[in-house]
Amino acid sequence: MAVETIKLEIAGMTCDDCAKTVINEVDKLDGIIFNDVSYPKKTGEFQIDTDKTSSSDVINAINSTGHYKVVNEIVENANIITDTIDVNYEDEIKEKQNNNFDYDLIIIGGGSAAFSAAIKASELEKKVLMFNEGLPIGGTCVNVGCVPSKTLIRAAEQLHTANHPNFIGIISGGSTIDFREIIRKKTELVGDLREAKYIDVLKDDPNVTIVKARATLIDKTIVEADGKNYSAENILLATGSSTFIPDIPGLSEVNFLINDTLYEVEKLPEHLIVIGGRYIALENAQMFARLGSKVTILQRSFRIIPDETTDVTESLKGFLEEEGIEIKTGVKIKSVENRNGSVIVNASVKDEDEVIEGSHIFVATGRKGNTSGMGLENLGVEPHKDSFIKTNEFLQTNIPNIYSAGDVTGEYLFVYSAAYEGSLAVNNMFGEAKVSKDYSVFPWVIFTDPQVAGVGMDEDQAYKAKINYDISTIQLKDIPRSIAARNTKGFIKLIRNKDNNKLIGARILASEGSELLMEISLAIKFGLTVTELKDMFHPYLTLSEGVKLAAIGFDKDVKKLSCCAV
Ligand SMILES: Cc1cc2nc3c(=O)[nH]c(=O)nc-3n(C[C@H](O)[C@H](O)[C@H](O)COP(=O)(O)OP(=O)(O)OC[C@H]3O[C@@H](n4cnc5c(N)ncnc54)[C@H](O)[C@@H]3O)c2cc1C
Repeated sequence: MAVETIKLEIAGMTCDDCAKTVINEVDKLDGIIFNDVSYPKKTGEFQIDTDKTSSSDVINAINSTGHYKVVNEIVENANIITDTIDVNYEDEIKEKQNNNFDYDLIIIGGGSAAFSAAIKASELEKKVLMFNEGLPIGGTCVNVGCVPSKTLIRAAEQLHTANHPNFIGIISGGSTIDFREIIRKKTELVGDLREAKYIDVLKDDPNVTIVKARATLIDKTIVEADGKNYSAENILLATGSSTFIPDIPGLSEVNFLINDTLYEVEKLPEHLIVIGGRYIALENAQMFARLGSKVTILQRSFRIIPDETTDVTESLKGFLEEEGIEIKTGVKIKSVENRNGSVIVNASVKDEDEVIEGSHIFVATGRKGNTSGMGLENLGVEPHKDSFIKTNEFLQTNIPNIYSAGDVTGEYLFVYSAAYEGSLAVNNMFGEAKVSKDYSVFPWVIFTDPQVAGVGMDEDQAYKAKINYDISTIQLKDIPRSIAARNTKGFIKLIRNKDNNKLIGARILASEGSELLMEISLAIKFGLTVTELKDMFHPYLTLSEGVKLAAIGFDKDVKKLSCCAV
């Protein structure tokens, strides 16, 4: 082993946490023997194994943080300054501080990631300019995503329950709907929430200006919109995602629906053909089926939600089919056309040719990042999975002062992750120390009925990660709450690491099963053992008792237990 000690002068550190960030960054290198960074002295001393790393690796690691930069390499007892590194960085920082940027932050996009970022930046007394164009302010979730879909899903559920009561003895009244009125109330709710949760939140904020305009990056600190240039020290790209439209012959000629248009239809579709088999496809398929449409799902894979294990996917498929939804898997669509007022899909289904005829097509075949025409290529902003934007753990793109958050990063396409990332990106732009994104415990939900809810690993992922795991599944037909409610569709499955008796994941298929998710998420996050979980009181006749029963089920047959016995 060849050992070398290097001492570096580091610019940009403003507190001890900055020093810790530098230490952590350098520690990631293989071959670091000793690592000491001092914020007051603005220096770092590193002992390295030169067979494994080099002084330039250390310098690059520090510079890659974007906030701190090596300005001198101090050669002990000689006062020699190497000029191979950027000695002008202190000047650059001063210049940046004195520079008359128009704004501290320009945000491109006006959805959840953007709003969360603007709120955080305003709290830090930063001057923010936000551009939004395309969708109305608030972006996907409130206008054409979470809010309209979930209110219509609830409406459809009430209609379904009214007409299909779980209890013998309740005589269904043959409830019907006024579809136009349901859509009108949905639009009203969207408007109210857009106002309350977006427009009103920032309208009186003196630090934030919102402009309705499409924005383009001109340079790393300059954005163009409506023919004018605006400059900022930092830029956040939060432009969201939209439906990925597959290349199917004839598709562009039929008036197909996507989530932006689906919730605006004036008449209930007679026969909705849904292309896709993941969450957006399934939630909407069931919702329209329950409102009265005939629905056919065409899924390319051989299973719906194919990333999930077969117990989840096949049970859910069965429950959807019981409601009359037709689900075809292994579908290759050859072409689409309009004929006599209908839409015709020519496809091969598990290698057999089929013609599927419907009244409308809804395309839900995944998402693509909203990045085209934004000038990213000219600036060399690195893409991720074709249309998305690549970011590091601090949400920086490869250009350090340009950050990205939300759907357009292509990692976690949910509104709560978008909001988290918007705020984190701002923290990392202006905060004293950068914080890495943390998705170690990430709960998610598919709002079908029964819902699919998950957190952590399933058994396939645990197997691939070579964890010594086991699973415990309790069927809803063995949970008192579900028995009493006469709704026993689904199960609760826990996955545990046998080596330390701690939970590593869960999958739930149950009506309102998502409400159980946070107990399990907290247990995973804070490392509760299965014993600690099952020792908690869980009130009798709650669905959460199912979590306790599943925890007990690792070691006992719960069917042989008396009421509430452990
Ligand atoms: C049908 C559906 C249902 C969903 N349901 C849920 C749910 O129940 N729960 C959940 O957590 N998530 C749900 N999601 C996902 C959630 O809506 C998104 O993850 C979230 O809205 C992404 O927020 P964002 O800020 O990244 O982008 P967006 O909200 O899409 O905002 C981006 C904004 O930027 C604008 N824009 C784009 N380019 C430019 C430009 N160059 N200049 C100016 N403006 C631009 C866009 O028009 C848009 O207004 C759903 C999504 C869909 C489609």
